[in-house]
Amino acid sequence: MTRIIFFALGLAVCARAGLAQEASHAAPAISDPRTIVVRAQWLIDGTADKPRHNVEIVIRGNRIVEVRAANSQALPGAAQVIDLGAATVLPGLIDTHTHIFLQGEDPAAGGYDVQLLKFPGSYRVARAVVSAHRALEQGFTSIRDMETEGAGYGDVGIKQAINDGIIPGPRMWVSTVSISSTGGYPLEGYAPEITVPKGSQLIDGPIEARKAAREQLDKGADWIKVYMTHRSWLDGQGALVSQPTLTVEELKAIVDETHGWGKKVACHAYNGLGLQRALDGGCDSIEHGLEITDAQIRQMLKQGTWYVPTLQVYYTDWDPAETDSGKRDRKRVAVHGVSFSKALRAGVKIAFGTDVGGFKWSDPIAEEFSREVEFGMTPMQAIQSATSRAADLLGKRGEIGVVAPGAYADLIAVAGDPLADVNVLKNVQFVMKDGVVFKSDAGSRSGVK
Ligand SMILES: [Zn+2]
Repeated sequence: MTRIIFFALGLAVCARAGLAQEASHAAPAISDPRTIVVRAQWLIDGTADKPRHNVEIVIRGNRIVEVRAANSQALPGAAQVIDLGAATVLPGLIDTHTHIFLQGEDPAAGGYDVQLLKFPGSYRVARAVVSAHRALEQGFTSIRDMETEGAGYGDVGIKQAINDGIIPGPRMWVSTVSISSTGGYPLEGYAPEITVPKGSQLIDGPIEARKAAREQLDKGADWIKVYMTHRSWLDGQGALVSQPTLTVEELKAIVDETHGWGKKVACHAYNGLGLQRALDGGCDSIEHGLEITDAQIRQMLKQGTWYVPTLQVYYTDWDPAETDSGKRDRKRVAVHGVSFSKALRAGVKIAFGTDVGGFKWSDPIAEEFSREVEFGMTPMQAIQSATSRAADLLGKRGEIGVVAPGAYADLIAVAGDPLADVNVLKNVQFVMKDGVVFKSDAGSRSGVK
């Protein structure tokens, strides 16, 4: 029997109540692949330059098997049809820089430090579970999580729980505890006699650097995250300066070890010496890259280095304008947009990343799209930065970030045209991950407020 569900996006719901909930608990068995046909007026497939009109996406189990003109062929027997009406369907979005163990804490409520000093690990895990849920709810079906901020290897277990179907969440690539140098990461500012926990594994020297990478890879890191700059301030001329952390030799030991495991290294680097060392040491992706020189852009092109700019997060939580840190906050965004535009024009590989967790998970993750467009991307380029380009960064081309035969059935839908206004991506109304409907326009079904 063919069952038809109609989600009139932006209009009244006309659906078989409870079906999405029922589906969310039913992982498709390999021997019994369910067939679902998703129909929509528009498809942005993640790779093509133009949207397609009136399509049917045929899904068997957790994979897309065919994308074809709507109503062009008889439906497969026993297919379930999800008709999304006038909606635009896209691949599930990918955020390549997240922190599920951060919650955009209010400094007045203890900020970053209280998480490491006062919260039980189980409390932080509980919050991370909610973060993972929120990622999926907002249409992000894959994330590269960029370290746990003192929560150890908690990301490894969250990823496992998602993969085992215990909790809802996106596909995860995890980087565990990260690496920086002595003096290169909080907690800071306590009496020197007191030993406080650190939000990163601090190393000194290439031997310790390699050992830290080995430990983290051994315990489940999919990526190694390295901090190549730490504090930042303005010098006497008003230029942005960042404190470098690891040496080139330390970073090279990490990169060599990590590449030997077939994995990659992401480097947090703002500008200056630390960014230069990140490039000279062979980082695979530069995170943030607030101020990149022309020579560094050429080096990124030559080395094939990815750029994950995380623009929007630097527009949040500015200190007062007259303070040193407030001036620094404003300078950061002033140079960042310029770097992004230059890198884009030069053809540097750019993947969508937000640093969500640095801001609250209840804020729209998709705000980043409008910053990308503000600084020169077309809406289609912005969408591809969070779909096929992000998939390339993760080494998953053709499997995620695309609606095409062979890809995982990770789909989202929005009402309206994101090519006319990327802000419609802030209101994702339908989410399917792995061939299972997680959310329809009736709202999330999994009961977390
Ligand atoms: Zn980050």
